[in-house]
Amino acid sequence: MNFPERNRSFKPPKELKDYPVGTAFPAGHLVDTNAAWRSLRPVIDAIKCSNCLICWLLCPDGVIHRNSEGGLEIDYDFCKGCGICSKECRQKAIRMESEGE
Ligand code: SF4
Ligand code: SF4
Repeated sequence: MNFPERNRSFKPPKELKDYPVGTAFPAGHLVDTNAAWRSLRPVIDAIKCSNCLICWLLCPDGVIHRNSEGGLEIDYDFCKGCGICSKECRQKAIRMESEGE
């Protein structure tokens, strides 16, 4: 079986207009809340955040969105607590907290 060669020329987008279309609103279009089993939740530190939108781009559930003040919010009803946003944030602006902390 032939696999296509990996594209090693990929560079992360530098400007907002270069990002693909993603979520821009709370994840209310999903029918049911589904985060009841989450043990860790991501918390964004607005002071450290550079607004690069990498977390928004990479969240597999599309639950990170911009609020009306231009900051970021996470829809905890749908966030699974996977931690990808925290792992990928270059500013270390997202910490994972235990539920109930
Ligand atoms: S990846 Fe980190 S710095 Fe970038 S927007 Fe998300 S929280 Fe902010
Ligand atoms: S923990 Fe996972 S599901 Fe929740 S906001 Fe971060 S990337 Fe999205």
